Amino acid sequence: MIYIIGAGPAGLATGLFLLNKGYEVKIFEKNEKIRSTACGEGCDAASLSILPFNSLPYIARKVHGVKCVYENMHFYARMDGVVLDRQKWLEGMVSEFRTRGGEIEFGAKIKKIDDKYIYVNDRKIEYEICIGADGCCSVAKEYFGNKYEYKVGCQYEIEFDAEDKNFLEIYFDRKFSNYYAWIFPKKESANVGVIGKFSQLDKFLEAMKIKERIIKKEAGMIPCSFAPRISDKKVALIGDAAAITNPFSLGGISPAIRAAKILADNIENLENYGREIKKHPMRNPILLKGRKVLERINDKEIEELFRCVNGKDISEIKYGDFISLLKRPRLALKAYYIAQALLHSLKWGW
Ligand SMILES: Cc1cc2nc3c(=O)[nH]c(=O)nc-3n(C[C@H](O)[C@H](O)[C@H](O)COP(=O)(O)OP(=O)(O)OC[C@H]3O[C@@H](n4cnc5c(N)ncnc54)[C@H](O)[C@@H]3O)c2cc1C
Repeated sequence: MIYIIGAGPAGLATGLFLLNKGYEVKIFEKNEKIRSTACGEGCDAASLSILPFNSLPYIARKVHGVKCVYENMHFYARMDGVVLDRQKWLEGMVSEFRTRGGEIEFGAKIKKIDDKYIYVNDRKIEYEICIGADGCCSVAKEYFGNKYEYKVGCQYEIEFDAEDKNFLEIYFDRKFSNYYAWIFPKKESANVGVIGKFSQLDKFLEAMKIKERIIKKEAGMIPCSFAPRISDKKVALIGDAAAITNPFSLGGISPAIRAAKILADNIENLENYGREIKKHPMRNPILLKGRKVLERINDKEIEELFRCVNGKDISEIKYGDFISLLKRPRLALKAYYIAQALLHSLKWGW
């Protein structure tokens, strides 16, 4: 029996891949039922299609990619993307998991794991393989003593029609966030959030003149650095518990799905899983570099960069578009790092 801690995207994806390979799997979930954590629900379609599960019925909206906005300027980064109805998507995966013979125990809070036992509520269970998929506040990660960098995100789901329903909109104005703010359109609502505090999110709503009813309010932490160690012979971490997120886009769903496939393929050799993840393109240092540049760039610089690419698609952008930056080599270099991290994210998972 393989034990998985946590029924989020990472735990359920891993569970489904393992059942497909004929393993017996049991998931422990601390909540009494599936409860989606804070999430903009945006994701690339290519990663979703890897899952051994039909996610189509759970897509709230299909989008053509990302629209990056600064004041009245914008540029596009195209990819086949979706905004999920994540709660229903997770519930759908649970029911598929059970139909295929997987076991799931709700109300099962893991207190810790050591090299022999998983401590669940008031009992302990001896294990051969344990997968820690218990999210950003993982107890399983303590097994390896890992510490990560985090960003805090706040979000409202709002009952309103986003202006551009064909894109995941990302706003770079430093008045609202020192990273980015977002509007992700769903069916009859939109997820509106910021990397930052609720006070910044409220400023963003005011500036965007969004006054409609708030349906849901949530906040959470997103790991945004790479983990030193995520597996040994018996234990492996995945998803936020392993800081397997895209540290540039801060998306966690796509990386979790891609990592779940690698984990299931290496379940007989978990140390190899750790090695495979380390050399995977989703661990490309350009993503960390892009994040560090983006968190330090100021409004004036952002404005200058947007002026070079306003109205364009990132795939059409040429070096010549940045001719005005010839006398600003440091800013040109920043533009290069951000563009590379963005292009890499479009290819390897938002
Ligand atoms: C505001 C915000 C917006 C975001 N927007 C996006 C986005 O648009 N797109 C995207 O791809 N990503 C987004 N993310 C990131 C994404 O939500 C996470 O990366 C993703 O949920 C990670 O999945 P996971 O399965 O690793 O963890 P989780 O989704 O956190 O699931 C972990 C599960 O483990 C359970 N658990 C925790 N502790 C225990 C325990 N001790 N015992 C038993 N069970 C336990 C939890 O109850 C939960 O069900 C966002 C994050 C935030 C905070």
